[in-house]
Amino acid sequence: MRVVVIGAGQAGAALVARLRGQGFDGAITLVGEETAPPYQRPPLSKGYLLGEMTAERLWLRSAEFYGDQNIDLRLGQPVAAIDRQAQTVTVGDTPLPYDQLALTTGAVPRRLPTAVGGHLAGVHTVRTLADVDAMQAEFRPGRRVVIIGGGYIGLEAAAVAAKLGLDVTVVELAPRILQRVAAPETSDYFRALHQAHGVSILESTAVERLVGDLRVTAVRLVDGRDLPADFVVAGVGVVPATALAEAAGLQIDNGIRTDAMGCTSDPRIWAAGDCASFPHGEGRLRLESVGNAIDMAEAVADNILGAAQPYAAKAWFWSDQYDCKLQIAGLNSGYDRVVTRGPEGDAVSYWYFKGSTLLAVDAMNDSRAYMVGKRLIEAGRSADPRAIADPATPLKSLLA
Ligand code: NAP
Repeated sequence: MRVVVIGAGQAGAALVARLRGQGFDGAITLVGEETAPPYQRPPLSKGYLLGEMTAERLWLRSAEFYGDQNIDLRLGQPVAAIDRQAQTVTVGDTPLPYDQLALTTGAVPRRLPTAVGGHLAGVHTVRTLADVDAMQAEFRPGRRVVIIGGGYIGLEAAAVAAKLGLDVTVVELAPRILQRVAAPETSDYFRALHQAHGVSILESTAVERLVGDLRVTAVRLVDGRDLPADFVVAGVGVVPATALAEAAGLQIDNGIRTDAMGCTSDPRIWAAGDCASFPHGEGRLRLESVGNAIDMAEAVADNILGAAQPYAAKAWFWSDQYDCKLQIAGLNSGYDRVVTRGPEGDAVSYWYFKGSTLLAVDAMNDSRAYMVGKRLIEAGRSADPRAIADPATPLKSLLA
């Protein structure tokens, strides 16, 4: 059997490693568009951007791993098309045959349109190693950066910039930063944290256009103000990379639509990670996270080998900004109440409930709250909100 995997990111690397780990001895080809070997993206907007990490420390596996495991790793080779009838993918001029194909194509950052100046020099996105390498030299003390978008990308870039002594402004369209992903309590926490580090946060603020001839010089707001900028970072979200799947006629539904096994509308083609939407509860879910990339890819590898095990997502995320370590367990969508525990020292946690059901926890500098919340949520259990909020209740007793 020949397995081809398109997309050499976290999910693709996890998928091929799992196939070999499970004893699969057929042919495996992992094809990637980027030239770097499969690497971790989370440090790109944190330690790597800060200059505290070398590129080699990002690699997911050693240089020898792929050869040792007899995995044909093809880097810098964008796949042009999938021919489902012939069961081939086109890489360069050569059709590459497959018996089973997996799509781990990830997501691509939204770009500011050319019509509003998104094409100007000095406008950056943060997704790939090449993106960050292209932008790193801009991060010099005293320079002015305007960050468009107050999601995790924008805020992590803001934290690095502020730490390096830049003059930082974050512009968020929504009424509050992190609105898409967190409760007002968490937004308030991070707004205060950034402001304490001298970052200016403008919410409910719309950008009209980027100003400049060849290179950006300012960000013009809809209210007429110009924010002078030596460079701009756009962290305005990502879209799932579905173009290849769409062109091949696979079903798309906020990402490549899969069944519970991770199989697409073609029984020989699978999908995993940021690009895939899978059944979840009554509806469907697409998760943009490292945890999902690894877990779903491993589930798909097992199912390619015949396990027939439905994938059950365990949602967890993290973010590092300044000295704050945020850990998130669960998915908060549909919450109607937030219970606060702390602050105790620099630890505070927000617990999301729907009725009496615990959905998610945001824990700042409190890995115990995160672990307890994660264990409760994964076991489908809850805890008494009064006990959570009471600092006298030991966290571990919530598991009893
Ligand atoms: P995101 O979470 O979608 O945040 C983008 C933010 O930009 C949203 O708040 C959005 O507001 C805002 N926005 C959109 N268009 C705008 C505009 N024209 N002007 C001003 N604000 C605008 O996406 P992201 O921060 O770019 O991150 C990309 C992906 O990487 C996400 O999946 C994210 O979770 C992931 N990531 C995760 C981590 C982590 O877990 N630590 C770190 C970095 C990145 P609306 O919500 O109103 O559209």
